[in-house]
Amino acid sequence: MFHFYPGTLSYSLGSIGCDFRCKHCQNWQIAHAIAADYFLEMIKVPPEETVENAIKNGCVSITLTYNEPTIWIEYALDLFPLAKEKGLYTGFVTNGYITRQALDMLSPYMDAYRVDVKAFRKESYKRITGIYDFSPILDATTWAFHDYKMHVEIVTLVIPGVNDADRELRSIAAWIKDSLSPKTPWHVTRFYPYLHFKDIPPTPVETLEKAREIGFEEGLEFVYIGNVVGHDGENTYCPKCKKLVIGRYGYQITAMHQTNGKCDYCGENLNIRS
Ligand code: SF4
Repeated sequence: MFHFYPGTLSYSLGSIGCDFRCKHCQNWQIAHAIAADYFLEMIKVPPEETVENAIKNGCVSITLTYNEPTIWIEYALDLFPLAKEKGLYTGFVTNGYITRQALDMLSPYMDAYRVDVKAFRKESYKRITGIYDFSPILDATTWAFHDYKMHVEIVTLVIPGVNDADRELRSIAAWIKDSLSPKTPWHVTRFYPYLHFKDIPPTPVETLEKAREIGFEEGLEFVYIGNVVGHDGENTYCPKCKKLVIGRYGYQITAMHQTNGKCDYCGENLNIRS
């Protein structure tokens, strides 16, 4: 997440399982596995220990990621209240296929919601994930943002020939602007051939640049290119004065010209929690 305490460390955990079966999944060894097959090898980490480890390692937040966090929501419900007691922030990196009830249970203790909107047509969603109706993902994201006031960032992995049509990308950008906010960050990230999509070539950088342009044309203020280290599209520019406010190189911060989420040059609200 680029707008959530930039420059800080997040203690990240994963487990086993996912409710999707994405054809490109980078973490398929754990995400597509069955927990029972790994029962003897799994390390049980009490939530108290996770909080201690996060603090010991200088992290300001704890993120559940790698596989789908909703699969082990019980752990989040034990962990996040303890983390909050110790002043840590909390978040999910998620496919967003979550019910209102589950989100409601998490909401008092969860700060950040980084969610994939993997496509905007049922056919593409089905082809990528196995899920045909993606409307629950959009609904849950709007609840996270509007009702539970979580910090939300959207990620779309742009896959050649699957979800890279201008029209589909434009629909995602328009939905973010209209249903969330023009200030919601959108990450358009580069696909690399993997797993069942190993015959699809990597996303051309020009396609990502076009996607970024589409995001800006639709009125989004923060559109980022992901998985292309050193690209200018990793940086944050102030939407008002256009100056560089956060410089990035991969995971490194190279410049920081914002204070408490405001541009140091013109005071514009950058929708950054910091
Ligand atoms: S939602 Fe994420 S973890 Fe689950 S299969 Fe898809 S890419 Fe893998």
